[in-house]
Amino acid sequence: MNQNVREIKNNTLYFDGCDTTKLAATYGTPLYVMSYTDIKNRLEELKRDFTDRYPGARIAYASKAFCTEAMYEILKQEGACIDVVSGGELYTAQKVGFPAERVEFNGNNKLPKEIDQAVSFGVGRIILDGLQEIELIEEACKRYAKKMNIMIRITPGVAASTHDYIVTGKKDSKFGIPLDEDVFMPIVKRVLESDYLTFVGLHMHIGSQLFENEAFIEALDVLMDWAAKIKEEYDADVKEVNFGGGFGVTYTNEERKPYSFFLDPLMKRLKQRAGEIGIEVPAAVIEPGRSIVAEAGITLYTIGQIKEIKGLRKYISVDGGMGDNIRVALYQAQYDGVIANKAQETPDETVTVCGKYCESGDIILNDFKVPGSVQMGDILATYSTGAYGYSMASNYNNNPIPGVVMVKEGQSDWMVKPQSYEQIVQNNVMPQFLA
Ligand SMILES: *Cc1c(COP(=O)(O)O)cnc(C)c1O
Repeated sequence: MNQNVREIKNNTLYFDGCDTTKLAATYGTPLYVMSYTDIKNRLEELKRDFTDRYPGARIAYASKAFCTEAMYEILKQEGACIDVVSGGELYTAQKVGFPAERVEFNGNNKLPKEIDQAVSFGVGRIILDGLQEIELIEEACKRYAKKMNIMIRITPGVAASTHDYIVTGKKDSKFGIPLDEDVFMPIVKRVLESDYLTFVGLHMHIGSQLFENEAFIEALDVLMDWAAKIKEEYDADVKEVNFGGGFGVTYTNEERKPYSFFLDPLMKRLKQRAGEIGIEVPAAVIEPGRSIVAEAGITLYTIGQIKEIKGLRKYISVDGGMGDNIRVALYQAQYDGVIANKAQETPDETVTVCGKYCESGDIILNDFKVPGSVQMGDILATYSTGAYGYSMASNYNNNPIPGVVMVKEGQSDWMVKPQSYEQIVQNNVMPQFLA
């Protein structure tokens, strides 16, 4: 867990130097809070253990975990690359003047207009995820008189041990190109022969929330087998290898592994395999998403109704729920937290924390321990909500999407303002024939 930015004193939770009960009072709840210091610490760890350590290595932050202008600004300042998967993420990057060559475009069904946007912007890499995409990219290159660097995403056929919805590397997957000789090799050949495309390497992403290395290494071995075939048949070198993301984080009691736990063995294997194939060691790329932002985020809620179902369960309701954190309903994700204004009182009662949305599955915390004195008006903080919380938020029940405050050593300011009711309905119009 992220002890260094989380601190409990005077019976209160502090986050990156800020009193969270004051944040709740100042900015209102529900509220996402992101720690600048924690994000920066992660980026520094990656720098020290990866990009400074291995020549040519780079990180491409997986934007989908948390995508806002200020987040991109931080990555821009830190010299990182970003991985985008939609025209909207690309637009956000363009809006903050993110350097185009540091943008990598991923996705299993990139739309023609998104490909056009990416090529006209001049992104650094497109991660090819299917045959039909090739022509779309070529046409866009023709329109803008550009060439495009292409990484090819493979489906390594490796099943990582994690939740089924976030396994992406097994053979039956909508992501990547299946490694059947008669499917894969013609695609590589097509890229190599194109006047508009430059083949730079291979990409894989085997899943998310991984804590072990075996599946990573196994998948890399598969990838390098194909790098060898590409060398043999087409005399082409794989110059870059993208390992994807998925580095696990702490939600409750998992033990977070340092990046080096994954990356050192992977780099060793990469070097060894490149030597065997007789190619230069490819530049390595990773796409961490949640591991950069998950633990940097907390969510603050105000406690409302408390219901005791005699002999069964006690429900504590908060003023947010599945609209700001869908992961519990979607993945049975487990979180931890604390009553921020009673942080040092003994948690002696087990409750279910639910949201205000009209679904029984709208749960935030299962079997959560609170002090018996918990009451309406108390502030609940849930931990490790920085990834896939805000980015997956919805307007279900026409509840506004909460704002995001960034904190840094006792300072705080908005990075995303909360939605207003007016903004929820701003695109609503009356069909002419109703008038
Ligand atoms: C989701 C995703 C990532 C990031 O995964 P995390 O678990 O957030 O690190 C990286 N690469 C690709 C292609 C992805 O789809």
